[in-house]
Amino acid sequence: MDFGLSERAQDHLGRLQEFMDSHVYPAEPVYEAQRAELRAAGREHHLPQIVEDLKIEARKRGLWNLFLPDSEDPAHGLSVTDYASLAEVTGRSPELAPEATNCAAPDTGNMEVLHLFGTPEQKERWLKPLLNGEIRSAFAMTEPEVASSDARNISTRIERDGDHYVINGRKWWITGTADPRCKVMIVMGKTDPDGHPYRQQSMVLVPVDAPGVEIVRPLPVFGYQDQHGHCEITFTDVRVPVENLVGEEGGGFAIAQARLGPGRIHHCMRALGAAERALELMCRRALSREAFGGPIARQGVVREQIAESRMAIEQARLLTLKTAWLIDKHGVQAARSEVAAIKVIAPRVALEVVDRAIQVHGGAGVSGDTPLAAMWAGLRTLRLADGPDEVHVRSVARAELGKYTDA
Ligand SMILES: Cc1cc2nc3c(=O)[nH]c(=O)nc-3n(C[C@H](O)[C@H](O)[C@H](O)COP(=O)(O)OP(=O)(O)OC[C@H]3O[C@@H](n4cnc5c(N)ncnc54)[C@H](O)[C@@H]3O)c2cc1C
Repeated sequence: MDFGLSERAQDHLGRLQEFMDSHVYPAEPVYEAQRAELRAAGREHHLPQIVEDLKIEARKRGLWNLFLPDSEDPAHGLSVTDYASLAEVTGRSPELAPEATNCAAPDTGNMEVLHLFGTPEQKERWLKPLLNGEIRSAFAMTEPEVASSDARNISTRIERDGDHYVINGRKWWITGTADPRCKVMIVMGKTDPDGHPYRQQSMVLVPVDAPGVEIVRPLPVFGYQDQHGHCEITFTDVRVPVENLVGEEGGGFAIAQARLGPGRIHHCMRALGAAERALELMCRRALSREAFGGPIARQGVVREQIAESRMAIEQARLLTLKTAWLIDKHGVQAARSEVAAIKVIAPRVALEVVDRAIQVHGGAGVSGDTPLAAMWAGLRTLRLADGPDEVHVRSVARAELGKYTDA
C-alpha cells in the first residue's frame, strides 16, 4: 500500500495550506459577523459575501473542484487517496474551505451522480453550473414517516403520467434547500412499489422552484441553524418531464450506492481535519492556561487526553487512507466493508477529540468563542447522516461473518 501523494497532489496541498493560512482562517470571524448581519436582516440562509470572495480567490489559485477523480478529469483530477489529504485540510474550517473550493457536500456527490448517470442535457443544465459554483443542489432521500436508514422504506411516490413523472411525498433533513442558491434536488422515491425490493426506487431531478414543492421548515441541529439549511419539504403533485429521470427506472438503489463510496472518504477525512484542528487548539490552550501552579499541560490527565487524541487520529487516518487506496486500486465494491468501518470510526474519533478539547478549554469550550462547540454539533450529525453507525456496523459484521458462512 502506498499512501504517498502524487506530485500534483503535493503541489495542491502546499497551495491549499497556504490559502487556508492567508485567507480561510482570517475569514472565519468575518463569516460569523456577516451571518449575524444576515440573520438580523431575516436572511439567515443567504451566503455571506466573504464566501463568494473566497471562491474567487480559490479558483484563481487553481484550488477548485479538487474532488474530481482522475477518471473524470485526466488533466487535473486526483486519485481518491490524493484527494483525501486535501479534504482533511478543508475539514479544518468546515463552514468555509469546502465551499470555497467547490468541494462541499452534498454537491460533490450529486455532481458525481450527474457525471456518471446524467444525460448530455442534464449535464448541460445542472452539472455545468454546479461545477462552476453558480448554483447548489440537494439530495432528497430521508422521510419523517419511515425509518430511512433502511432505504427500502422510502415511500415517496414517483408515478409515470404520459411524458411526466408526478411526485408526492414528504422528506426531511434535506441539506442545502434553504439556501436560495439551491436550484435542484435529486429525489429518491418509488416508481414500482410492487417490484423487487431493490428495484422499486428511482431518482429524478426536481427543480426547487417546481410547482408543488414546499419548503416547510429548516431544522436546527442542537439549536444551530445551518447556513444552507436542513429542510423538511413536501411534494404535492409535482410534475417533472420524464427526461428528468436519472439513470434508469428502478436504478435508485444502485445510484445511491455508487454515490456514497468516495463521498464517505471525503466526509471522514474532513472529520479528521476538524479533529486535528481541535487537537491543536487543545495543546495551545493546555500550554497557555495555568492552574494549580503551572500550565495545565503539565497535568498527567491532560497529557493523557492529548496523547490518546493523537493516537486515535493516526489510527483513523490510516484506515481511511487504506480505504481510499482500496477504492483507487480495486473500486468501491471491493472497499465496501472498509467504507462502512471508516464511516463509524472517523466521526467517533473526531467527536472524542473535540470533546476532550472542549474539556481542556473549560467554559470557553462550549461558548461560541472557539470553533469547538459548532464543530462538535456538526460532527455529531455524522453519526446519523449517510446512515447511522449501527447500519454500518451491521455491514462490517456481515462481511466478517461472510468469510466463514460460505465454508
Ligand atoms: C444534519 C443532517 C443532515 C442530513 N442530510 C441529509 C440529506 O441531505 N439528504 C437525506 O436524504 N438525508 C439526510 N439526513 C438524514 C440521515 O441520512 C438520516 O437521518 C439517517 O439515514 C437515519 O435515518 P432516520 O433518521 O430515518 O433514522 P431511523 O432509520 O429511524 O433509525 C433510527 C435509529 O435506529 C437505529 N437503527 C436503525 N437501523 C438499525 C440496525 N440495522 N441495527 C441497529 N439499530 C438500528 C439507529 O440507532 C438509528 O439511529 C441528514 C441528517 C442529519 C442529522
